[in-house]
Amino acid sequence: MQFSELPLSKSILKVLTEERYHRPTLVQEKVIPLVLENKDVIVAAQTGTGKTAAFALPIIQQLAKEPDSEKGEKKIKALIVSPTRELAIQIEENFKTYSKYTNLRTTAVYGGMSTKPQKDVLTKGVDILIATPGRFIDLHKQGSIDLHLLKTFVLDEADLMLDMGFIQDVRKIEELCPRKKQTLLFSATMPEKVNDLAKSMLRNPEKVNI
Ligand code: AMP
Repeated sequence: MQFSELPLSKSILKVLTEERYHRPTLVQEKVIPLVLENKDVIVAAQTGTGKTAAFALPIIQQLAKEPDSEKGEKKIKALIVSPTRELAIQIEENFKTYSKYTNLRTTAVYGGMSTKPQKDVLTKGVDILIATPGRFIDLHKQGSIDLHLLKTFVLDEADLMLDMGFIQDVRKIEELCPRKKQTLLFSATMPEKVNDLAKSMLRNPEKVNI
């Protein structure tokens, strides 16, 4: 399959050509159309399969066509929760690359550094926020995070998140999000506890197994 056979916009296809992504990976082929149809999706895929682009590309495409992204109203519309700082930074870099022909703003917040610069960026406004669980909760308590326009919630590396003891934080974050939203859950493995979490958080999810 070619990227041009997927329902992707010209500005996204342009970036993919520049990045020398010749073909979609299997996870991208299956997940991109479902995300664009606004489905909840549970995806079993390892790192290295191209799973970040599988959620980032359709999220960017959907947000870029919203009129308020043109007007510059910057409220968080997509939230990606990641278990580690390193992964959060990687996801942020990917979103920034893929959205370079849009005016969407992306930032990542994580522990291990002062909250001040992260708060300043949030105050100016972002469309896409990537966060580790602990720092997200801290910044939310401090009033720096407004989720009322959130449309898409992504839980990345859900199995690792649970292994690292973030289950309560993840449930709390989900409760802070609006009820009506799209939820995407990615996990390298699907043990019982990940399935239980998915059952409680996703509505009629489509399942993709890579
Ligand atoms: P991920 O599984 O999201 O960690 O992605 C693994 C690597 O594959 C990243 O460095 C991506 O930039 C790259 N990548 C993702 N999709 C494609 C694609 N369709 N063609 C070539 N490289 C890709």
